[in-house]
Amino acid sequence: MDAEIIAVGSELLTPQNTDTNSLFLTEKLNHLGILVRFKSIVGDSRDDLSLVLRTALSRSQLIILTGGLGPTDDDLTRDAVAELLGRPLHEVPEVRKGIEERYSRLGRAMPENNLRQAQVPEGAEWLENRNGTAPGIWIKDRGAILVLLPGPPRELEPMFNAACVPRLARMASDAPIRTRIYKVVGLPESEVDSLIAPLYRPYTNPATTILAASGSIEVHLRARAATEAEAEALLAELGDKIELALGDHVYSTKGESLEEVVGMYLVMRQKTVAVAESCTGGLLAERLTRVPGSSSYFLGGAVCYTNEMKTRWVGVSAELIQTHGAVSKPVAQALAEGVRARAGASIGVGITGIAGPTGGTDTKPVGLVIIGLADERGTQVREFHFPGTRDRVRLWASQMALEMIRRRIRD
Ligand code: AMP
Ligand code: MG
Repeated sequence: MDAEIIAVGSELLTPQNTDTNSLFLTEKLNHLGILVRFKSIVGDSRDDLSLVLRTALSRSQLIILTGGLGPTDDDLTRDAVAELLGRPLHEVPEVRKGIEERYSRLGRAMPENNLRQAQVPEGAEWLENRNGTAPGIWIKDRGAILVLLPGPPRELEPMFNAACVPRLARMASDAPIRTRIYKVVGLPESEVDSLIAPLYRPYTNPATTILAASGSIEVHLRARAATEAEAEALLAELGDKIELALGDHVYSTKGESLEEVVGMYLVMRQKTVAVAESCTGGLLAERLTRVPGSSSYFLGGAVCYTNEMKTRWVGVSAELIQTHGAVSKPVAQALAEGVRARAGASIGVGITGIAGPTGGTDTKPVGLVIIGLADERGTQVREFHFPGTRDRVRLWASQMALEMIRRRIRD
């Protein structure tokens, strides 16, 4: 059984909102051995929704719609599906009672339009919503299954887990799908591909995808087999070869971020870290502290943007900056050593660079970033040239700083 997902909501067609429900659903479906063959996003328009639905019914056995089940006039999913399937809506007393009780529990008067949510197409089952008012709807129609789920992820996710996963598990006789993700840092996409293409080319199962994702390259393997164990064995057969070829450039095989991996190493080695950042403006500290539990290894950071602050806060000598310039190896080294000493950390990191778009010169162009790392074994300084926008230069600077920490403590 293959599936199709339709996300309904005009907000999902703007640059501000992302359809994340389909990502959640795809992961769950794949686990059940159900492949997602199509995804669409459609605005709150009855005609457009009917068009997409008609296409979906012509090609998919399982169609999952999310959103548009609310009480307001722009919530059209229920009506559009009922109309297209020729199944008139009728009120389900039990659902109505549930909605009324929910309102009285909250001590609020129920707006009349909420009762629209108690309407279910003829012959359909309804799915309890423990976290909101709109129930889900499950319809079997001419060999296809349509599932209507509420848009808010905090309502959709528990409903899907509780009501849909068991039903689908009973039906899905297909082969389970298993995935592996290798995250790579420090190698360009083309190099990753030329290293591993000879390995994955002979295989169609697992299927291999390589993608560049904010500072990393990701290699995704997806295997399908009769049993979970066979799918895992297929993944291991190709995956282990790929892992070997990419060597220590692979920082994660379980989906962790680089900052999470660095955090794990820091905990394991019982090391602490402090940072002095110029061009990244605190991004490295932000990423390190995104990880829960980082207080056990992250001591603090200084954003020392001006020369004066590099001197006052981290003790970089004014003469050093005068002689070599703020973006230089000696200053990166002094930032790392200075913040390490002042914080009393096992590792100090200093970042200085030119994020652009202005401020570059012939000898120190935009994208030049110098990173120092000081620990008890001494200080390492690396120079990078990152192409692209200011955002990209800053992201890559934080990425390579994390990578320097990872390598240093791994060794
Ligand atoms: P609705 O059920 O259409 O009233 O959706 C209510 C809210 O759910 C929207 O305002 C979004 O915040 C959220 N939402 C709807 N569809 C999605 C989606 N596909 N992915 C993530 N959030 C969504
Ligand atoms: Mg909506």
